[in-house]
Amino acid sequence: MINCQTELDCLHCGDITVHTVLYASLYIKSITCNRCARTIEKSAVILMWQYGRDLPARAFALTRRLKREAVSHPVSFAFSLPKRMIYKPIELSRELAEVCL
Ligand SMILES: [Zn+2]
Repeated sequence: MINCQTELDCLHCGDITVHTVLYASLYIKSITCNRCARTIEKSAVILMWQYGRDLPARAFALTRRLKREAVSHPVSFAFSLPKRMIYKPIELSRELAEVCL
């Protein structure tokens, strides 16, 4: 998961304060005001729904990207393919774990 700091308008403090935004994969999981510690959190069910909704489009974009690479740089594509076949499922498993936890 990735933490980012940004200034947002806190409804509890009534002022613009520094907030910590926690990302699970590509999605905002929670936002916490650093002054009052009030947290807005997205449930795992909603995150999983968003992940499942976006996954087919991401898979389609990946196949298009792989096709372009295979056509434009066939040799480097062929050498990179075994590594990708190992790491892509690991990457997807990590994303799913972040979204579910
Ligand atoms: Zn606050």
